[in-house]
Amino acid sequence: MIKKRVLVTGGAGFVGSHLCERLLEEDNEVYCMDNFFTGQKRNVLHLLNNPYFELIRHDVINPFMIEVDEIYNLACPASPVHYQYNPIKTIKTSVMGAINMLGLAKRVNAKILQASTSEVYGNPMVHPQPESYWGNVNPIGERSCYDEGKRAAETLFRDYRHQNNVHTKIVRIFNTYGPRMHPNDGRVVSNFIVQAIQNKDITVYGKGEQTRSFQYVDDLIEGMVRAMNTDQSFTGPVNIGNPDEFRIIELAEKVIKLTNSKSKIVYQPLPSDDPMMRRPDIEFAKRELGWEPKIKLDEGLDKTIFFFKELIK
Ligand code: NAD
Ligand code: UDP
Repeated sequence: MIKKRVLVTGGAGFVGSHLCERLLEEDNEVYCMDNFFTGQKRNVLHLLNNPYFELIRHDVINPFMIEVDEIYNLACPASPVHYQYNPIKTIKTSVMGAINMLGLAKRVNAKILQASTSEVYGNPMVHPQPESYWGNVNPIGERSCYDEGKRAAETLFRDYRHQNNVHTKIVRIFNTYGPRMHPNDGRVVSNFIVQAIQNKDITVYGKGEQTRSFQYVDDLIEGMVRAMNTDQSFTGPVNIGNPDEFRIIELAEKVIKLTNSKSKIVYQPLPSDDPMMRRPDIEFAKRELGWEPKIKLDEGLDKTIFFFKELIK
């Protein structure tokens, strides 16, 4: 069987490492490119002995040449703590990374999929969010380097398709959690689990009344692979997320219960531009990809808690 040659940018990160694993399982040849800003070699250590896996240290803001059939463009820090550390670099990564990878796709005639985000909807005025909603994004706030970078990348994907006939796909990923999240990542699921395991205070920002809809990483990977496997007529953007919506305070209580923790909940200020609610409308993904998430929050949390217990014991 002829293997597909697949490039995964950001492949040593949380989502990227699961995607590399899945693509190897399906008998592809995988090139994992990463600058190790938030990703780690440890995430792909178990793949290094596979002769069809190659790990490449490279920064996506610089041009990159390789012969491939498919490109998944994931390179970009995803946690607010990390993407706000060097906001200029974050927007460069999204915009120049997209230009470099789209240029590569054009040159070698590869399919290319962009990991976009629910953050393109900003603090939404429409709930749940369908793909047709244009969003409510602050262009000059603390989250703008990420939100606007991803929005510009979507524009570039659209324009390379129309102007240069590049075979593009866009998936809008909603909050995703699971094993291999960085313990200091700063995102809510990893923060709460690490705090609960260590019996430290659980830091709820604001009153904890804001909502998010949490998707387990395996469901995301299935959605991404299905989107890539569509034909030329499918472009997206398509929402990939779990529509089960929870208040942040509910998540804190759930994590305390599942870990049997003695932690107390403490309240800290809500960061600026923190969206008050978020839930994907997934009708389009159901119809076009035959996809919907399978893993309930309690089950996914159990698997993630197991991972963090092993990591920090
Ligand atoms: P992550 O931080 O674990 O992974 C990002 C990876 O990209 C890391 O390995 C990092 O080192 C690498 N990277 C960053 N800048 C780079 C650069 N300039 N050149 C090369 N590599 C670079 O985050 P993640 O959760 O795995 O997110 C993966 C992708 O999915 C990101 O594009 C993110 O925006 C998107 N996404 C994730 C979520 C989520 O909830 N996890 C939600 C929406 C979108
Ligand atoms: N959050 C929290 N405590 C934390 C980390 C995050 O209450 O220790 C809140 C955060 O303010 C936001 C929600 O949890 O309302 C999700 O945050 P995360 O950074 O995981 O994702 P995003 O805001 O990008 O959706």
